[in-house]
Parts: sequence; structure tokens; C-alpha cells
Amino acid sequence: MKFDIITIFPNIFSGFLSESLLSKAIRKKLITVKIHYLRDWTEDKHQTVDGKPYGGGPGLVFKVEPIFKAVTALKSKVKSNKSKVILFSPRGKKFNNELAKKWSKLDQLIFICGRYEGVDERVAKYVADEVISIGDYVLNGGEVAAMAVIESVSRQLPNFMHDADSASKDDHAQYTKPEVFGIKGNVLRGKGKKQKTKILRVPKVLLSGNHKKIDEWRKGNSN
Ligand code: SAM
Repeated sequence: MKFDIITIFPNIFSGFLSESLLSKAIRKKLITVKIHYLRDWTEDKHQTVDGKPYGGGPGLVFKVEPIFKAVTALKSKVKSNKSKVILFSPRGKKFNNELAKKWSKLDQLIFICGRYEGVDERVAKYVADEVISIGDYVLNGGEVAAMAVIESVSRQLPNFMHDADSASKDDHAQYTKPEVFGIKGNVLRGKGKKQKTKILRVPKVLLSGNHKKIDEWRKGNSN
């Protein structure tokens, strides 16, 4: 699976890609992540990727030409029709785990990371296959969205997780040692707030060894 990211801030990704499971997946060649500098697809000496919006208004908008050139070049490098071009936008379709599962079957994902006032609408209409939002809030750029999607899609790939079941399981409440944890002070939220000492216990059912009951409890405490 190959991720191609088009960005004007390539350095944002270095720490993200060099730590933990993602860096292992890259070393094992389970995934390939290539960062592409949008300005490399410009032709003027200033490497201009943006312009003022038609009709007036503040800020700058990414131009269609360099993005079109970048996407055309990156698509031609992967000989597969299992490829998708994603534009990130707060106005896009909401990303979720179902999409992550679906996209994990692809060979290539090309991400277009916008900045400033966004991207010329012709990219959404004619260049991207899908326009995706990662939530109802506005980020400074698409890079954080790209990282979130890379991580969630990669988790769906066989052999990415240590425990093969982890990615497919429901997410439920979890506890670990100690079984009993006493807290003094007033840092607790809610009911404990007024008390000087509070004993926080692991729910008894999880210590019972009764797996049927544990499964029931987990279902009741999952997303
Ligand atoms: N009004 C602009 C628009 O509707 O696209 C907002 C531009 S935003 C400041 C700059 C870039 O950040 C966007 O082009 C997009 O790539 C990215 N972005 C911001 N919020 C996002 C979100 N919730 N999901 C995905 N990408 C987002």
C-alpha cells in the first residue's frame, strides 16, 4: 500500500513517520509513504502554488495547475487502478473506520493537503475522487488529516498491529494494574471532587474470570 502526500510543508511528517508502528510498517515494506513538495510542480521562479480568490476576499487559494500536475505524475507511477485521490477539506464527507477498512484494500492513496483559504474548487470537482473531512472543525492544513487517515488505514492492514485482532475489535473501556488505586486531594472529576480520599477500583466482573460476563460487560462499555 502506497501513500503519496502532496503538501507545502513536508517536514511536518518526519516525526510521525519515524516512530512506533508506522515506522516498523515502513521498514517491513508493509506501507510506503512518500511526501511530495507541491512547489516542485510549479514553473515560475517563485514556485507559486497559490493566488488571490476570484470575487475578492481574504487570503490565498491553492492553484489547480500544480496539483493537477502532481496528481498526474504520482498516478502514473503506480500501475494499478486500485488508486484514489483524496482532497482534504472541512466541507468534505466525514472520514470513519468503514472508509479506513475500504481504503486498506487499495494499492495507492494520493492525499492533497490544502492550506490558507483552501483549494481551487476545480480540484474537488475534477481532480480528486473524494473530498474528505476528519471532523467538524477547521485545521490550518490537510497534513494532520493525512496523518490521521494514514494511521487508521494502516491499522486495517494485515500484520500492521502486534495483535491481529486489535484493529477489528470494538473499542471498549479497559483497566490494568493496580486493582485498587487510592487518590488523595481534589483533582478528581465529578462525585469524587468533594472527598479528600477516593478509592478507585477495577470493576469486579473483569476480575471474575467469567468470560461470558466479561464479554457482556465489554459490549455494554464499548463504542
Ligand atoms: N474555508 C476553507 C475550506 O473550506 O476549505 C478552509 C481552509 S483550511 C484553513 C486549510 C486546509 O486545511 C483545507 O484546505 C484542508 O485541506 C485542511 N482542513 C482544515 N480542516 C479540515 C478538516 N476538518 N478535515 C480535513 N481537512 C481539513
